[in-house]
Amino acid sequence: MSDIYDTIIIGSGISGLFTLKHLLEENVKNVIVLDKNPEPFGVWNINNHPSVYEKTHTVSSKLYMTITDFPFPDGTPEFPHHSIILKYYQDYAKRFNLYPYIKQNINITSVVKKNNLWIVNSEGGTYYSKNIVCATGTVNDCPNIPTEKYYNNFTGQKKHNDNYEKIQNVKNKNILIVGGSDTSSDLAMELKNNNNVTISIKNGMWFQNRNFGAYEAADMYYNRIADFFIKNIFSKKYVDNNTNPSNINNIQFWWGERGSGIDIWQSKCDYLNSYYVKSREIIDQISKGVILPENGIRDIQQQNITFETGNTRKYDIILFCTGYKPLSCINFLDKNIMNSEKYKHIFYPTDKSIMFVGYIRPYLTSIPMISEIQSRWIAKVISDKCLLPSVEEMKKEIAKDDLNQSKEFPCSYDRLKTIIDPYSYYNTIAKKIDAIPNYINLFFTNIFLFYKIMVGSWNQHVYRLNDESKTKQDIAIENINKIYNSKISKKAEYTVIAWFYYYLFYFVAFIIILFLLYHAYRDKKQILKYIKKKLSIYKK
Ligand SMILES: Cc1cc2nc3c(=O)[nH]c(=O)nc-3n(C[C@H](O)[C@H](O)[C@H](O)COP(=O)(O)OP(=O)(O)OC[C@H]3O[C@@H](n4cnc5c(N)ncnc54)[C@H](O)[C@@H]3O)c2cc1C
Repeated sequence: MSDIYDTIIIGSGISGLFTLKHLLEENVKNVIVLDKNPEPFGVWNINNHPSVYEKTHTVSSKLYMTITDFPFPDGTPEFPHHSIILKYYQDYAKRFNLYPYIKQNINITSVVKKNNLWIVNSEGGTYYSKNIVCATGTVNDCPNIPTEKYYNNFTGQKKHNDNYEKIQNVKNKNILIVGGSDTSSDLAMELKNNNNVTISIKNGMWFQNRNFGAYEAADMYYNRIADFFIKNIFSKKYVDNNTNPSNINNIQFWWGERGSGIDIWQSKCDYLNSYYVKSREIIDQISKGVILPENGIRDIQQQNITFETGNTRKYDIILFCTGYKPLSCINFLDKNIMNSEKYKHIFYPTDKSIMFVGYIRPYLTSIPMISEIQSRWIAKVISDKCLLPSVEEMKKEIAKDDLNQSKEFPCSYDRLKTIIDPYSYYNTIAKKIDAIPNYINLFFTNIFLFYKIMVGSWNQHVYRLNDESKTKQDIAIENINKIYNSKISKKAEYTVIAWFYYYLFYFVAFIIILFLLYHAYRDKKQILKYIKKKLSIYKK
């Protein structure tokens, strides 16, 4: 038998590499990363498949793509091009000496456990390990293609965005894009230059602007005070009520109902309970008549497609932007493990030696931000610095989390069981590894930093303030200061201050009314006398 590894990580995308880096930091050095693609960095490396497209920029802002102990170079744009992200990840791998542990062109075909050891079979050989970490990503070789029968009648070309390169240069075609997502928006913006593009969205979708001003990423307009009040005092419903289209000074008033103002695209779910498209470029194009919106498809006859609106048009190409099947694509694993619910979306409860990183879908922020904290926890569990609860406790918590998730994301849950609220989820994981700073202590020792953390844009750097490494703490403080000074963070701060005055006003008015009522009750006559006296003075 060849070497037995402590841990084999499957996938050299950023989630796999985060896990590797944190294992090395926890002194687990007998590790290997195996990946079937020719080069590391998963989808962010355009030489791999699947990967980003030539024109891809991130939809998550630079803040949420930042690794907590490895800042972007100064001057990085708010929504970097994929080549910038790749260079950033390459520098990260160099800085933390990750390359020697990575092996490419290894396609894993089966992973089975025998005698407490995982046997990893690949087309190029067999590997053995005590632990397995799956990091095969949410964009993979299993495109999700709709199964409605009418698609079989279509006589034009059918493609999934996975094969976009095959149609990216077509001209003068009628193209129907099926699905509302960041990808469908990006590809519609490209294809519309030379073709007629229609987008069909069946169950509605929220559209959120990527920016306020040019250097003000919209996803940064959120802070810890807002998070605390929304989650603990008001509820998400409060925010939804305040997005009402008839009230000035709110999202739907300025962006149209459900962020688009398109009747047939109205999502049934509220703002903070949905997955959004993080760009409104196509809404502009729809207003110019360049892109056509449609809802569900009713029927297809040859190339003629009839929509639920009753419109029928002829199309040359259907482009499915309907996502991927993330977990069911892990076909090298036992189906029971693959299909089971995981504890906090990471741990298979009945066997803690197999773990999953990067399979969550935060409705805002980014996947890498979440997989970084997940991998910190995984590394602590593997190195025995953190213990997991008992199997029963994990199963109980899974059932509870599942129920909460279905209530919180009613429109997305069936299709996307891994959709999460990134802020609550991050806090939950950070708590498990003791990464939440002692805010009370901070209040008394460094009130300025405390204030910046509370009112500045919500950020992941806060969870490095407890770190054993002084260097990492210093990087975190520098990042928190930079974020606090950004224009969008200031807007979040002003909003909180405005809220404060608004409620203070009502509170003071309430106290005054109570005071008056109290006195009126105590001495009705005296108040009446007083008013009469005042009035008589005015009459004179
Ligand atoms: C166009 C595009 C834009 C995106 N923009 C954003 C964004 O702005 N914000 C955001 O948060 N996310 C974005 N994403 C999602 C992106 O997937 C994540 O940001 C992140 O790259 C996920 O990293 P990962 O390591 O989990 O997965 P991946 O990068 O997908 O890496 C998984 C790796 O596993 C390997 N693998 C899979 N199966 C096997 C097997 N059987 N054997 C061996 N190796 C295997 C693959 O080869 C791959 O290298 C975007 C994705 C695309 C395609």
